[in-house]
Amino acid sequence: MNTDLDELYQSVVLDHSKRPRNFGELADAVQVHGDNPSCGDEIDLSVKFGPEGAVEDVKFKGMGCAISQASASLMTMKLKGKSETDAREMLRAFHDLVTTEVAEPPRMLGDLRLLQGVRRFPQRVKCAMLAWRAFEQALARNAGGDSVSTETDA
Ligand code: ZN
Repeated sequence: MNTDLDELYQSVVLDHSKRPRNFGELADAVQVHGDNPSCGDEIDLSVKFGPEGAVEDVKFKGMGCAISQASASLMTMKLKGKSETDAREMLRAFHDLVTTEVAEPPRMLGDLRLLQGVRRFPQRVKCAMLAWRAFEQALARNAGGDSVSTETDA
């Protein structure tokens, strides 16, 4: 097997789970709580959207297994500063990465590509997707929200 990649995967996952990036909470942001009862993972995601729906800032707090926390940490690094279109594209690409056979993972996923291996472990897919599901909810809430929107459901 690919030992180098396995080692890289482990070191990146461990690094991010031990020292999560963008850890914390944002004021005036969309807050989403997500949990994955089958593993005991939890996450509180704060996303600050710009007027055009871009991800201006994103932070998370959470606890649980290394995969769930590393995925959240890597996700926040990648999403920060992205336009809504790019953020949605990344969400879709990451979901594909961990659920289907992807020969060449898109480069924009960066180190997130190292999580590709969780595909072989269905229980782990939920861990890896936890933060992304929370982000998906944040997107939906920002689009629909509690406020009156004139946009159509596209
Ligand atoms: Zn987990």
